[in-house]
Parts: sequence; structure tokens; C-alpha cells
Amino acid sequence: MSAVMITRKVRKWEKLPGKNTFCCDGRVMMARQKGVFYLTLFLITGTCALFFAFECPYLAVHLCPAIPVFAVLLFLFVMAMLLRTSFSDPGVLPRALPEEATFIEMEIEAANGNVPAGQRPPPRIRNVQINNQIVKLKYCYTCKIFRPPRASHCSICDNCVDRFDHHCPWVGNCVGKRNYRYFYLFTLSLSLLTIYIFTFDIVHVVMRSMNGGFLNTLKETPGTVLEVLVCFFTLWSVVGLTGFHTYLISLNQTTNEDIKGSWSGKNRGQNPYSHKNIIKNCCEVLCGPTYPSVLDRRGLLQEDTLISSSNPVPQTTKTTAPLIPNEHTPDDAKPSIAASAEKSPSPKEEHPAATKVPPLASPETDAETSIAKERAH
Ligand SMILES: [Zn+2]
Ligand SMILES: [Zn+2]
Repeated sequence: MSAVMITRKVRKWEKLPGKNTFCCDGRVMMARQKGVFYLTLFLITGTCALFFAFECPYLAVHLCPAIPVFAVLLFLFVMAMLLRTSFSDPGVLPRALPEEATFIEMEIEAANGNVPAGQRPPPRIRNVQINNQIVKLKYCYTCKIFRPPRASHCSICDNCVDRFDHHCPWVGNCVGKRNYRYFYLFTLSLSLLTIYIFTFDIVHVVMRSMNGGFLNTLKETPGTVLEVLVCFFTLWSVVGLTGFHTYLISLNQTTNEDIKGSWSGKNRGQNPYSHKNIIKNCCEVLCGPTYPSVLDRRGLLQEDTLISSSNPVPQTTKTTAPLIPNEHTPDDAKPSIAASAEKSPSPKEEHPAATKVPPLASPETDAETSIAKERAH
């Protein structure tokens, strides 16, 4: 009985752990729960459609032809910022490969010494110094990494996200290092659009009422009433949210840090990331460099499938190319994945502040790795 090896090429996004969904062959990345995101799309497009149908024709003739033009431009900008925030990688940090995880576990065990039975081991924390301030790096038990400063694990997406701000169901994605500025521009432009529509709704009703009476106006333009209601309730929340994020940006602080009170209170230190200057903080958050995604979602993997000639059903599937394993990865495949895996870009490389980089397993550490494997078994 002979066997045939079939090689199939798969993209890395197909094997990524975490609870994300991907479209367009990995170009689009979102959280799995998208119901509220569709509601956002519906509210924005619905309100704008009513505005273009009921207000714009009258206002363009009787007030100024530029009113619909500016509304279209603002609407397009809002949608562009929303989709840019929703469809991008917020800054997900790759999980440790099995050998890296084993090595980090070994290091932690060695550092903690022998903990007597029945006693709780000390918390897994590393300290780094940033701007003369000690910052704690916590160990993520899911991703098996010491999180870089400001990173946090999103329980909804099940990923560690760099400079994690919050998970926003309205945009259907996490908000983090790579999409925060687009999120802020989205809330800012949406505030302007809401104020714009609300103002011209009122202007429209007042102009028509002077000619034909208030009740007749409401009968002639029923969409206006709906728009005014939607805009009125949206206005407070969106303008309030924009104000809150403007405050956070001026302090160079994240929502996560604000909620946890990381830099407030008597015993807490000062925010080491702040430049102590509002302009500098705003420039860093809004005009700083854009960071590439470290996931390499569209990178290729090779998946070998062994097929017996007498039995054409695939018997074993063994991945021999770089892969970020997940809970579905067969145990026997993990060592071979890690052995042949290209070292994924270390999240810590983006953080000069994370002075102590957890050592990664490499060919030079074969002896240590074999010890680790023995322990693991
Ligand atoms: Zn994590
Ligand atoms: Zn999330």
C-alpha cells in the first residue's frame, strides 16, 4: 500500500487562534459578534438617507447649494473612518509558540524556586522601568507571553492587544494601538455630522413653518421628525464620547488605564507615557507613526496531507510550516510546528520600553528545550 503526500497552501489567518472573523482572504479582520456594528451602519446610513431625501432638496434651493455637498463629504469621511477601524487589526499580539511558552514557563519556575506544596506560587509579573517608573508586565495564561506595557487581553476577541483601549461593539472590533486614531476620527466626524444634520433639520422646519405653518411642515416632511429624534439621542452619547477621548488623548492615557485608575490615586505613580504637554500628547497619539500588523495574516503556510492510495481518505494532517498553534492543533503536531516555525515577529520588538524580552527558543537552546520537553511529559 503506497501513500501520496498532497501539499496544500493555506494562509496564516486560517490557523490563527482567537475569536476573530476574516473576509477577503484575510484582508478584513473583525470580532465575531457584529450585530451592533450592523446597527451602527444602519443608523448612520438611514439618518443620512432621510436627510438627503427630505432636507437637502429644499435647503439647496432656498438656502445654499453647498449644504448637500458638505453633508456628502462628511458622510463619506465618517464611513471611511468607521470601516478603517472595524476592518483592521487593532494590534493583536501573536501567541507564543509551544517551545517559546515552554521556555518562559521554565524561566518562571527557575525564578520562583521550589514553592512548597500547598502554597500559592507568586504572581507572574516582571518589572520594567519606563521614564524612571516601574511598570509591571503581567503574564497572559492564554497567549503564554508577558504582555508588553499597555497591552491587555480582550476577553471577547480572546487576544492580547497592544495599547489596548477597549472593545467597542459599535465598531465590531477592539480599539488598540493600530486603529485608535481612526476610532477617534470616527467619533469626532460623527459628532460633527450629527450636529450638522440636527442643525439643518431645525433650520428646515423653521423656514417651512414660516411659510406654511408648523403642523403642515411636519405632515409634508415626516422623515424630519425621525431624524431629529435619532440625532437628539445620538448627539449626547457621541459628543460625550468624543469629549472623553479628547481628554484621554491630551493625557496620553487609554480607556483601560482610566477605568483601572492606573495613574491616579495616592499610591499610584504618574503616567510614564505622558509628555506632560497636551500638544505633544495629541501629536503622539494622532500623528505618530503607524505600526505594521505583526500577525502577517496573509502569509502562506504549507499543509501536507498524507493520502493512502488504497484508501483515498486523508489519514493524517501534519503542518510543517510556520503556524501559530491553537487548541485545535493536535499535540503530536506541535513540536514539529515549533521546530520548523519561523520566529514570528516578537511583540516586544515594538516596545523599546520593554527592556527585558522573554527569551525565545532557538536552535542554540536545544539542550534547554529538550529538558523542558522532558519536564512537560
Ligand atoms: Zn492574551
Ligand atoms: Zn476585542
